[in-house]
Formats: sequence, structure tokens, C-alpha cells
Amino acid sequence: MDAVLVRNIKGASRNDPASNYGYQSWLAYWKKIRAVTTFLQCSNIDCPKKSIKLYGGYVQQLGILRIYITPLCADCSDKKDPFSVKFSDLINHPKPFNPDE
Ligand SMILES: [Zn+2]
Repeated sequence: MDAVLVRNIKGASRNDPASNYGYQSWLAYWKKIRAVTTFLQCSNIDCPKKSIKLYGGYVQQLGILRIYITPLCADCSDKKDPFSVKFSDLINHPKPFNPDE
């Protein structure tokens, strides 16, 4: 499995909401690009809770200045430490560079 380490970008979904790009939410964006409507689970590989309410997580892959959107539960979208996700669960942000840098 091609796992990659990512970290949450704090405050990003407030500072750069999906509505800036014409989407209701970052989760809606992820579903649209991925062409998925059902069966979603938190993309953190080590998440103990697999099927609960999800949000569009706004994450950065460690070591590169590239931003991705991926479905995360509330706990994982608040995580301070890096965590692993499957690379295939990451969707490029519409402008995948870090707006802070
Ligand atoms: Zn989770």
C-alpha cells in the first residue's frame, strides 16, 4: 500500500473555504473529483473509528509544499501530529500550493 505522511493545516478550511472554488464543502469537492457518493471512511490508516461523520480534511504531505483534500473524522481533522493516509485517498487542492508560503 502506498501510504504517505500528512499533517493538518490549521485553520485552512476557514481561511480558504471550498466556497471560494464553488463547492459546498471540501468533502463535497473530494466526492465530486473522486466521483464517489457513498461509503466513505476516515482516510487516516490508523483511525480507530472508521464509519462516522466525515469532513474534508485539508492536509499537506510532509516534506513537500503540496496541499491535498482527504476525508477525515472530527478527531483526525484536529490531530496535531502527522498521520498516514493512502496516497489514492488524496485529491489535489484546486490550487495545490500552500497559500501561506
Ligand atoms: Zn479518523
